Amino acid sequence: MYKDYAAFLAERFERKVQKLAVNAGFTCPNRDGTVGRGGCTFCTNAAFNPSYCDASLSVTEQLERGKAFYARKYPDMDYLAYFQAYSNTHAPVSRLRALYEEALAVDGVVGLVVATRPDCLGDDVVDYLAELSLRTTLVVEIGVETVHDSTLNAINRCHDWAIARMAIEKLAGRGITVGVHLILGLPGEDEAMMEQTVREIASLPVSLVKFHQMQVLSGTRLAEQWERGEVALAQWTAEQYASLCARLLTLIPQHMAVERFVSQSPPSMLISPRWNLKPGEFATLLKKKIKEQ
Ligand code: SF4
Repeated sequence: MYKDYAAFLAERFERKVQKLAVNAGFTCPNRDGTVGRGGCTFCTNAAFNPSYCDASLSVTEQLERGKAFYARKYPDMDYLAYFQAYSNTHAPVSRLRALYEEALAVDGVVGLVVATRPDCLGDDVVDYLAELSLRTTLVVEIGVETVHDSTLNAINRCHDWAIARMAIEKLAGRGITVGVHLILGLPGEDEAMMEQTVREIASLPVSLVKFHQMQVLSGTRLAEQWERGEVALAQWTAEQYASLCARLLTLIPQHMAVERFVSQSPPSMLISPRWNLKPGEFATLLKKKIKEQ
């Protein structure tokens, strides 16, 4: 079996820990014109934000709302503030410091998870993150998606794999825990290409990997391309996708944890694939596929 996210957390915390998403009002360099406009073809961050996450509220207010949501069920829980929406290091260090320190001052918050792009990690930002990781649990989650530049171009990512690899090495070299986000089934990718991505990531100082299936969401450029028949996407059933994940897992070293394999978007936004999985159903499928290997 692989190391799952619960095991990753148990290595770091004695108590149960829950991530609470925060929308701190960042934007993205691939939307604001810094490196591109329009964003990645699949992106709509409307799909990512839970209901307690409202960028018009302060970081503290969002975290308190999130705590209230979970505390009913688990009164003895601690929390990781998850700076999730858009690119959460795309701002001057003074702003990052103010936002992250505000999160860490909230009672029960025991660490930070910061999601960002690999091209938003300048030296001053990395210096601050390195300092931060000496005094709290910090995971920097980099959106890598694939190691294939042809795919990165096709999805209008506006950075290449070399930048992502450098970012991973730079962060890890400063003692910062690195997580990586990968998408399986990107336009034009076959299984050999996905394997190559996982092999490359497996050879790097990455602690945590998050996979998710390529999803076509309404309102995205990908949805338009898909409807016009301009992109070829894998049409897996949930069972076929679980088999793929089981095969890719054999490439992941024991020290690397896998946080998740599937992402769930609001049904009203999801065009494809519509698997209608109940909670826990994919985990059961995956276990079965791992056993069958
Ligand atoms: S880098 Fe992230 S936030 Fe920016 S457009 Fe792409 S997926 Fe969206």
